[in-house]
Amino acid sequence: MTLEELRSHARTLLIAATAGLAGAVASAQSAVDPALARFIATIKAVDNHTHVNSTAPGDADSDALPLDGLPPFLLPARLRPENPEWIAAYKALYGYAYDDLSAPHLAALRATMKRVTQERGDGFPEWVLDQIGTEVMVANRIAMGPGLAPPRFRWASYVDALLLPLSTRAERAQNGDYAALYPLEERLLQRYLKDLQVATLPPTLDAYVSTVVTPTLERQQKGGCIAVKFEAAYLRTLDFADADEAAARQVYAKYVSGGEPTHAEYKTLEDFLFRTVAREAGRLGMAVHIHSFEGAGGSYKISGSDPLLLEPALRDPQLKNTSFVIVHGGGIFAAHTGALFARPNVYADFSVMPQFYTAATLAAILRQWLSQYPEKVLFGTDAFALGPDMGWELSAWLASTTARKALGIALTGMVRDGEVTQARAEEIATMVLRTNAATLYKLPLH
Ligand SMILES: [Zn+2]
Repeated sequence: MTLEELRSHARTLLIAATAGLAGAVASAQSAVDPALARFIATIKAVDNHTHVNSTAPGDADSDALPLDGLPPFLLPARLRPENPEWIAAYKALYGYAYDDLSAPHLAALRATMKRVTQERGDGFPEWVLDQIGTEVMVANRIAMGPGLAPPRFRWASYVDALLLPLSTRAERAQNGDYAALYPLEERLLQRYLKDLQVATLPPTLDAYVSTVVTPTLERQQKGGCIAVKFEAAYLRTLDFADADEAAARQVYAKYVSGGEPTHAEYKTLEDFLFRTVAREAGRLGMAVHIHSFEGAGGSYKISGSDPLLLEPALRDPQLKNTSFVIVHGGGIFAAHTGALFARPNVYADFSVMPQFYTAATLAAILRQWLSQYPEKVLFGTDAFALGPDMGWELSAWLASTTARKALGIALTGMVRDGEVTQARAEEIATMVLRTNAATLYKLPLH
């Protein structure tokens, strides 16, 4: 659906939906203890996963795998423009005065957004953080850019491209998503090679690791990167098997100068390189972020993104110094994520959940996690731009607001049922929104 179609759809539905919002807000608030809600509202957050845009025109360095080129797929209801919560976001961020998006009101809104963006300039991203109560935002990007400086913004890079040094023609033929996404990884690997001034891939796997993989990770770490992100579930299933180094060496040497590896051969190489990247990231003090959620994409394999598929890698003794963060908490597999928290080096954020799910749905997931491993749960929004009138700041606002509400519902329930004291509930809220991430990344906070 184009943005224009979405918008006209939105206009027809807004009046009815706005009436519904008032009821929904009232019922969510009644589920949260008012004192706890006030406390949660004051916590300055660390947002573990976002796609914040820089202020550069076009912002070409934002996303390794933009989903624009994929076969059509539906957005969940809360992300559609007719969701009246977007009006609430416009009101909160831009002082929007109306309850509808009629053409003249929309024109006024666009003028306001343009004025605020221009007035704030490179300070716009930080201004947004101040509006939504976020102290530090982790930006998952190819590279940082203007407006995204530390300490308010921290970098999480993309590393799937390092697993794919051979031709991906056979992989691409599998489905429309792969056809669109694999070439983007090829382009990113070319960029990494150019950054290192490596003209051609070396003939052996060992040389590839020592002259491309490790130097790329070292370069990212020196550039301020605190975590490396795998989006592998968009490209394959997450079953990174125990690495067969000898077989991986053979596959690399056989195809590095040409030819098409079979899927099984490529998987052997990827499995080995996944362990290599994870081990090196751990050595360099960077966490490993892994996308695990039910989507998105036209051919996305949901069962292939189950975090339990990561178990062989997560329990690999060679990777005990690497911290893994299951990004998006596994989505519908949230209970599997919760089970993996027992491993000392496994964490999760709940980014994107407060956009796809309601506060009540997210609260149930949080309660399950927080009753067992509260030190492993990280706040996250997955803030991203949905279109010209729906910049990343709007989804950051929606997700932050929903996440705080969900946390309030979960902790209120735990206090009411005598599972934790009010003081402990406040402590857990602070951990989830702020200190768990600060401890994991050794971030200095105010
Ligand atoms: Zn994301």
